[in-house]
Formats: sequence, C-alpha cells, structure tokens
Amino acid sequence: MSSATVSYNFPFSHIYVEKKVLGHPRTKAILSRFSKSRVIKIDHYKDVFNRPRQSFRLQKDSPSLILAGNTGASVFHGSPVCQDFGYENFYYTSSCRNCIFDCEYCFLRGMYGSADVVVFVNLEDAFSEVEDLLSKHPVYLCVSFDTDLIALENLTGYVSAWAEFTKGHPDLTIEIRTKSFRKDIFQKIPSCDRVIFAYTISPKEVIGRFEKRTATLAERLSAASCAMEKGFPVRLCFDPVIYLPDWKKAYTELIEEVKGSIDLSRIKDVSIGTFRISSEYMKKLRKDLPGSSLCQFPFENHNGVMEYPDNLRNDMECTLVTLLQSSISQEKIFLATF
Ligand code: SF4
Repeated sequence: MSSATVSYNFPFSHIYVEKKVLGHPRTKAILSRFSKSRVIKIDHYKDVFNRPRQSFRLQKDSPSLILAGNTGASVFHGSPVCQDFGYENFYYTSSCRNCIFDCEYCFLRGMYGSADVVVFVNLEDAFSEVEDLLSKHPVYLCVSFDTDLIALENLTGYVSAWAEFTKGHPDLTIEIRTKSFRKDIFQKIPSCDRVIFAYTISPKEVIGRFEKRTATLAERLSAASCAMEKGFPVRLCFDPVIYLPDWKKAYTELIEEVKGSIDLSRIKDVSIGTFRISSEYMKKLRKDLPGSSLCQFPFENHNGVMEYPDNLRNDMECTLVTLLQSSISQEKIFLATF
C-alpha cells in the first residue's frame, strides 16, 4: 500500500475492555466519553497489548485504549537509571502504560511492543500497596513513570486522585513528571508540599524535532510558574539532555529563557541527566526508527546502558551545571549519576 492510500483511525477509535472490569465505575465513566469508538471485550489486556509483530511507530498515530484491572504488583523499586533525589525509599507506580505524547527517545518504545494506551482502572489497589509500604517507612513515589499522567487527566482523573491520596498520607511524597501545558489542574487539587510537579525542560529545537505533541517550552515554563504560585513544589528536569551539533548554544539559550521566565529561587530543585537508555531498549528504538539521528548516534555501552561518550557527557553535564549554578544553589542541583 502506498503512503498516499494509508488511512488511520482516530486515537482510541478502538477500546478493548477486560470483561472483569466492564462494570467498574471508572470503566463506565471512560467509555461514556467515547460514544463513537468500537468497544471490544477481551479476557486479558496482554492478549492485545502483548501481541507479537506490532509496530510501535505505526500504532503511535492512532493508538487503541485498553481498560484493564491490574492483578499483580503495581508499585516497584526505582530503577538505577532514575534519580532518587536523595529519597531513601524510592518507588514508581504504573497505573497507566504508554503515553499520548510522542518522544523519539522514549524508553517506552523499547519497553513495550505496543503503543496502545493501557489504563488500569483499579487505582485503589495501588493505593493499598502504597499504604502497606507506608506502614513500614516513608515513601517517595513517581506516579507519572511510564506515561504522562497529566496528559491523560481528562480520561482518568488520576493526577487528582493521587494528589488527594497524598494529602491524606503525611509520609508519602509523589512526583508527577510531565511535558504538558495544563494549568487548570492546579485549581482542581489541594496544594500540598509533598506533591512535586516535575517539568521536563528542553531546548526548542529538541521539542520541535524529538518531543512531538508535547507543550512548547514557553507553555511548560508558564505551567511550572502557575504550579509554584498555587503552592506546589516544582522540579525542573534537564533530563534527558540531548546532543545536537550546536548543543552548547541551544542549552545556553534554553537556560537564558528559563531564567527570564521563572523565579528560579522558588524552584524545589533541578535534575540534569544526559540521554541514557538500556542497550536492550535501544536495539528496539533503532529498529523502530531507522532514520532517527538521535537513536543512531554512536553511543557507548556502559554496563548495559547506552550513553554518550564520557567526554561529551561530562561536557554536557558541566555546561548545564555552570549555566545554572549562578541562579540555583548547589545542593538543589541533582546529577543523574549511577
Ligand atoms: S512524555 Fe515521557 S512518557 Fe510520554 S512519550 Fe515523551 S518521554 Fe515517553
């Protein structure tokens, strides 16, 4: 079939629903928003999500939605390639899988064979798991880990639900990482100094080339300022730092724009991390995106993690630290070293 004759369905034109969650109130609420979609009952989400020979790249243009009940664990210890920001008990949770944004470097391309979006409707079971952990020690939890939860908020309401839950559990701190422009969320949820909104901050060139469908830099910075005004701690994540031929210029201009748009003295902290990904995931990214200059870069394999060569990585990290340290105290700058 020529590209001229390819036709795509609209996103979520097909919604697969596990039979066991058909009667769940969240399932009903979500389905009520998609009157034009075809609903298909399934026994288990993996029957669809884990089908062999799917194309992540093609599915990304018109993903299906899968509503399921998570029967296994949904809270996990943080991976060594993620930053723990000094928190001892660092976990992440997966209430949704996959993302409606489309970043070329996204690890989900390597992690999953499908770009379909899975929503586990039994969020309360994840809450119970977290309460079990909280009975033993304080918990730091990334709730927007293998998705962008704010981007799915209209569908799921999970940002609001996690924020409410966190407010009621004093030993819980959550991070909600995003590339979204949305500000209305800060009106909807109660302010809490343990609900951290973490904005990925990238140069315009990176956003335009590699972070499709995400908010512009100005929109992200404006949303971050709004979150701070409403009393939420805000983290700026210069992570992943992406190589461009003129990366020094691009990141210098980026930091200038950040300094001009946001009061850095009120930021909780910043993270800096150059692009890194497991070598297994990188194999899949390169296969899925053979023309990607980002993925085809000659990375070095450091113990199973693909990274920029040491001298480039150090140069990028030092440049970012130098650019930021005149405006942010050293103890608020976290480097992704592992
Ligand atoms: S916003 Fe995050 S989860 Fe979504 S596609 Fe981009 S990197 Fe992946």
